[in-house]
Amino acid sequence: MLEKAEVVVIGGGVVGLSVAYNLVKRGVGKVSVLERRYLGSGASTRNCCGIRSQFGAEENIRLARESKKIFQGLTAELGFNILHIKGGCMMLASTPEEAEILERNVRLQNRLGVNTRLLNPGELRARFPYLNPDKIRAASFDPTDSKAHHDAVVMAYSEACRRLGVELNTYTEVKGFKVEGKAIRAVKTSRGEVKCSRVVNAAGVWSRQVARMAGVNLPNRPLRAEGMVTEPFHYFLDPTIVHLNGPLELTQTLRGELVGGLADGEDFSLNLNSSLSFAENFCKRAVEIFPRLKFANLMRQWAGYFDVTPDGSPVLGPAEEVENFFQANGFSGHGFTLAPVVGRLLAEVIAKGKATPSLEPFYPSRFREGKLIVENTAPVDRLSWASTLPEASSSAPSR
Ligand SMILES: Cc1cc2nc3c(=O)[nH]c(=O)nc-3n(C[C@H](O)[C@H](O)[C@H](O)COP(=O)(O)OP(=O)(O)OC[C@H]3O[C@@H](n4cnc5c(N)ncnc54)[C@H](O)[C@@H]3O)c2cc1C
Repeated sequence: MLEKAEVVVIGGGVVGLSVAYNLVKRGVGKVSVLERRYLGSGASTRNCCGIRSQFGAEENIRLARESKKIFQGLTAELGFNILHIKGGCMMLASTPEEAEILERNVRLQNRLGVNTRLLNPGELRARFPYLNPDKIRAASFDPTDSKAHHDAVVMAYSEACRRLGVELNTYTEVKGFKVEGKAIRAVKTSRGEVKCSRVVNAAGVWSRQVARMAGVNLPNRPLRAEGMVTEPFHYFLDPTIVHLNGPLELTQTLRGELVGGLADGEDFSLNLNSSLSFAENFCKRAVEIFPRLKFANLMRQWAGYFDVTPDGSPVLGPAEEVENFFQANGFSGHGFTLAPVVGRLLAEVIAKGKATPSLEPFYPSRFREGKLIVENTAPVDRLSWASTLPEASSSAPSR
């Protein structure tokens, strides 16, 4: 392991790897990734592979729109097939409140050049006959949303990192920091110390713990989310389906398996064991929306976490308390979509030492300043916030 690196990236998930790849591409010098288990062992290989720009906050729509563009060329850029499929994404609403959110979001997305459309009941029935119209009050559809294989994306970034000389240290746990004044001078790990000029915290749902080791307070909270996969069917489901309540997600792989996920509830244990309650809850809810699923056999399931912030938007940029400590966390269930663009923008900020306008609103200081980026498609209202919010920020916005 290197004793000295220009930048240390904590977390070998899709976000940390994207940041490391973009940093080394910009020629910042030696980059070292520290991952306490194997690459992709966190949420990055436990998600439902959905890529969308159907968000409710302008800043998130802009970021996701750019990320979608990068995804289109990522196979060529990284020289590794990420199994990217442009099947669109359909967001579903069942209650009047959820329907209102979709309508408002579509208007905003259209204003920002995203071609999302509300589908009327006739269109929904004709184009997507497998959905239960009795359970759906409104649906929005963007044909340019897509999906890619999460394992392939992690492998593509890690192989590109390796080729470009990034040091990928697996089974290397960060245990603390050597902080002098307002700067981190070294990272203490289970395998020794690495001196460095800058540090990126891309530790997913563990980011809050990692930040605390440097004296930095993040308001992020863990929301347990589980996933499952069925036996394979003939391929029929191009779009990713996302129901706002949950969110509950369903998609189909190229091999034909249906992959689904559902965010469950607050859970600080951060254990990755599967639960029977998820299987029961998910199957009941999914069959209501998608009746033909009652014929499917569930093959296996797994657990993961959303790293959720009070406004449902990511935390990106330098910490206020420690100036060379950059955050890339709090993705609130959207980190797979945003990883490519976040890697690019954060690498630019770190390399140039200057803020970029699209990243600045996401800085951690926004919580203290009360400048929240309220994301109404994120499951922020499923968590209790009182004890973690910094004093100056408001309570969690409701959807
Ligand atoms: C069921 C489910 C479905 C989802 N579906 C989607 C979707 O369809 N679309 C979408 O955009 N997003 C989705 N997400 C969210 C997405 O998976 C995450 O936002 C994204 O993977 C975050 O990536 P990351 O690299 O930040 O975190 P992670 O992949 O969790 O990586 C963080 C890494 O940090 C490491 N680490 C932690 N602590 C330390 C330490 N002290 N020292 C060293 N290493 C450490 C961990 O081991 C881990 O590998 C879903 C998530 C789940 C759970």
